[in-house]
Amino acid sequence: MKLQFYNSVTSEKEEFHPISNKEVLVYGCGPTVYHSPHIGNFRTFIFYDLLNRVLVQNGYTVKNVINITDIDDKIIDRVNNEDIGFNDLTQKYERIFLEQSDFLSILPSTVNPRASEYVSEMIHFIKSLMDKGVAYNINGNIFFDTKEYSKYGKFVNIDDDSLSREDNELGKKHSNDFALWKAWKESDGEITWTSDWGNGRPAWHTECAVLGTQLLGESIDIHCGGIDLKFPHHENESAQVEALLENQFANYWLHAEHLIFDSEKMSKSLGNTLSVSDLLKKYSPETLRLFLLSSHYRSKVSFSDKKLDDSSKMIDKINRFVNNFDLATIDVQDIKYSSSHLAFLDALNDDLNTPEALGIFFDFINKMNKNINNESMTEALKAESKIFINLFNSIFSIINPSLSKKGSIPKNIQDLASLREEMRNKSDWNEADKLRRKIENLGWLIEDTKDGQKLIQKK
Ligand code: AMP
Ligand code: ZN
Repeated sequence: MKLQFYNSVTSEKEEFHPISNKEVLVYGCGPTVYHSPHIGNFRTFIFYDLLNRVLVQNGYTVKNVINITDIDDKIIDRVNNEDIGFNDLTQKYERIFLEQSDFLSILPSTVNPRASEYVSEMIHFIKSLMDKGVAYNINGNIFFDTKEYSKYGKFVNIDDDSLSREDNELGKKHSNDFALWKAWKESDGEITWTSDWGNGRPAWHTECAVLGTQLLGESIDIHCGGIDLKFPHHENESAQVEALLENQFANYWLHAEHLIFDSEKMSKSLGNTLSVSDLLKKYSPETLRLFLLSSHYRSKVSFSDKKLDDSSKMIDKINRFVNNFDLATIDVQDIKYSSSHLAFLDALNDDLNTPEALGIFFDFINKMNKNINNESMTEALKAESKIFINLFNSIFSIINPSLSKKGSIPKNIQDLASLREEMRNKSDWNEADKLRRKIENLGWLIEDTKDGQKLIQKK
């Protein structure tokens, strides 16, 4: 199947045609760095990673930008009300975002630009919109004039009164107009930039519009974000770029549904968040990643311990299967792809259908396990398995080769670890501790995780 995506603009699945065959240009709205990202944010960031990996799997080179939103009211609030500087605050949470992304096996973006480093480009962009007659100044606040842009309303019916509207108190002309620049106010303190129309700061929709066009160009292939960003953020981002440049900003707009907790969207402002660092105390990064990938990105997913336990069991099953093979020694030359392999690729190409792809992989495991039990694994089946395991892991990235490769953990260490598990099951903590020390003296560390004992060779 050819690669296709559900485009939020047309509400239809469309075959993917890149602007250039050289590289695919992708922009994803990144974190607002005033707080540690929560598992809901990572639902969206893992979706960006999935998209990236599936594009690469289709043979494309990807240039992807995930921005760092470091100019925002909540950041300004924290800096002015707490004993912390702007750079210290924003760079701390940027670092946490990058570290946790790495932990969850999210491939690095080509670039993670900070909004604060592109303010002069934003001022220039706003000035061009004013010169073009689609933006106006009210007391140093600059607004986009939606009545001057006939295509406003790409994602929603703009006459819908239930839509949330912004900046009403600042005196804009029409209810859908939105701020490009917010004039300095006392509560901003020292966080301010100078422009031709006075001190202030760029507004969020302008930050992404400028970072996207500066780093990727005037037209990009794919723009993505969480579903809450469709309106007004993406509507407003796209309106600015398209009004100014008179082109189509992004050809495909993809949105991930929310992660739900206690029947509400998980969000910092609702205070119902679970941080990734807390969850990692209980679950392995692979378990979190599989949990987030096991629902389709366009379905809501609710968080539950039961679902994480199920993911952890699935990982055990995958690792048990992989441990049947010494992958490095299996020769895969001249092997045809199995029908499961091709069906797996089709599922991913069909708008990133990870639950279907996962089902196909598990059916394959069940089929191969039968062959293993009947001792009827041929060299060709081993090769098919190796190729499929590698393909699966290039997308899901949850098999940790150093922990699952047969033979990588010496037999005597495995035996001691099994014995230790037995002692722990019998609550004989003394004996279990002695065994841990013995294993450590032989050069291996034991980690007790939700997924069981993990053995890591000391460096
Ligand atoms: P923020 O740090 O609030 O700017 O959000 C960063 C990204 O996380 C955006 O693309 C949001 O749409 C996304 N996001 C926020 N909350 C959730 C959630 N509960 N589920 C999925 N995505 C979310
Ligand atoms: Zn954005």
